[in-house]
Amino acid sequence: MAHQLPQLSYLYNSLEPYIDSRTMEIHHSKHHNAYVTNLNNAIAGTDAENLSIEELCKNISKYPVAVRNNGGGHFNHSLFWKIMSPNGGGMPHGKLLDAIISNFGSFENFKEKFNAAATTRFGSGWAWLCVKSDKSFAVCSSPNQDNPLMDISECPGTPILGLDVWEHAYYLNYQNRRPDYISAFWNVINWAEVSRLFESAQ
Ligand code: MN
Repeated sequence: MAHQLPQLSYLYNSLEPYIDSRTMEIHHSKHHNAYVTNLNNAIAGTDAENLSIEELCKNISKYPVAVRNNGGGHFNHSLFWKIMSPNGGGMPHGKLLDAIISNFGSFENFKEKFNAAATTRFGSGWAWLCVKSDKSFAVCSSPNQDNPLMDISECPGTPILGLDVWEHAYYLNYQNRRPDYISAFWNVINWAEVSRLFESAQ
């Protein structure tokens, strides 16, 4: 069962002006597509072919670096597209907001922490909000296409929000201004999906 590039539930131009159409098109149809193709090639004919992308990440130390890079790329981008929406932005509410407040003191404190993780990740990588095994929250970042699900992660947990800070995610519109892209991201976060991921991580 080969991995497949997921369809987006919105159009490439739907996240404008925060994320431009051309960036979305190249990011999804070229970058993500290449991770899927390279992952399928890397696992062809091996036992890893029968694992879900989540199971693959959880056992990533057993596999070659091509599986780590492209499997991570596939998982991370699949999550990223889902946690954004043209109707996104604003604030989380309900149990998710309560948990953010109890873990970070306030939504604003959480936002500052997440922004700092995204801003200070040197080179290419991701910023995350994840649920740890003790059910508390962690904000962290990872290099390249690594993620908190991976058994090699320095911040293990279940990611429920992730931001791609590779230059390919923002350079066409924001050039070197990563902090502007990070600020814009808050306008497209799909909190309903983040809440769903939070509930299923409980
Ligand atoms: Mn990317």
